[in-house]
Amino acid sequence: HRERATVGGLMATNASGPRRAKYGTLRDLVIGTRVALVDGSITRAGGKVVKNVAGYDLNKLYLGSLGTLGVIVEATFKVLPLPAREAAIVAAFPSLRAATEAGVALARTSLRPAAVEAHDLDRTARLVVAADGDAAAVQRVLSDAARIASEHGATSVEPASDLESALSSSRRLVESADGVVLRASLPLAAQAAFVDEVRRIAGDRAMATIAVHAASGIVRTRLTGDSDALRQASLDVFAMAKTLEGDAWLEHVAEALREAIGDVWFGEPPGFFLMHRIKQEFDPRGTLNPGRFVGGI
Ligand SMILES: Cc1cc2nc3c(=O)[nH]c(=O)nc-3n(C[C@H](O)[C@H](O)[C@H](O)COP(=O)(O)OP(=O)(O)OC[C@H]3O[C@@H](n4cnc5c(N)ncnc54)[C@H](O)[C@@H]3O)c2cc1C
Repeated sequence: HRERATVGGLMATNASGPRRAKYGTLRDLVIGTRVALVDGSITRAGGKVVKNVAGYDLNKLYLGSLGTLGVIVEATFKVLPLPAREAAIVAAFPSLRAATEAGVALARTSLRPAAVEAHDLDRTARLVVAADGDAAAVQRVLSDAARIASEHGATSVEPASDLESALSSSRRLVESADGVVLRASLPLAAQAAFVDEVRRIAGDRAMATIAVHAASGIVRTRLTGDSDALRQASLDVFAMAKTLEGDAWLEHVAEALREAIGDVWFGEPPGFFLMHRIKQEFDPRGTLNPGRFVGGI
């Protein structure tokens, strides 16, 4: 949500978007932070050059800590030049599984596309591949991507007329205020099977819409339905992600469902006792964002 997200909010959630395929997450780009601690003191980590972290890299601790350790008041980023050219293709597929498999096959090549997104938001399975760089590199990535899509059964491949809207699948998924959005992180090879399993689990008790960041293993599923069905379907999808050696949690829960759905993190992660101790050290009275993080931290 470029128009309304803040730098602090993005860092606190370690949010990433479709271009994660090539540029990584904020963890890869933040080199310095200034954080206000709960006692009012200001602390610094890292700095303005890339290799200047001595000791533990506290930048990495703050990123994704959801504001539970302190308030990020300043950040320094690695910056990259804007690409000379950026373009995308959109391929239609008979199933989301086929679109995902094509995306994973592409992610395994040395082509380094900027984004590889499979989704079924408009009731048609689609794969969007974006490339950036000089014109020849863009042309090469997109023509190879079109060939890989065709080899995986694409029924059509077309240039995207509007790049940003072609890459907005995850944003569109979380835009609507109803239901829940479950985010799973999976091994690349497990994504296609996961997509089918989510459909099976949703069955006719919940409606599932899915967006796959095929190059990074992140699969977002919007589930809509009544609260009991959503709670059970979410738990089953979480268990499936674990079976496939991944993980999952609820990134968004509609206001009206929050009480019925309960814990969005599905329990305590491995190493939770250490996280608890870190929280105790930074914020012993539990003042910062109380109860919002894993295990009720
Ligand atoms: C765990 C989690 C992961 C997410 N991952 C993604 C993702 O990968 N991609 C994506 O597009 N969206 C993601 N989202 C949605 C995410 O909320 C937004 O992309 C992003 O946070 C929007 O920024 P905002 O300024 O609106 O944040 P807000 O909604 O205002 O805040 C988000 C969280 O960050 C904390 N926070 C805000 N500012 C600061 C600060 N300066 N210092 C410390 N903490 C602060 C808040 O307390 C709150 O807990 C995620 C959401 C959650 C809860």
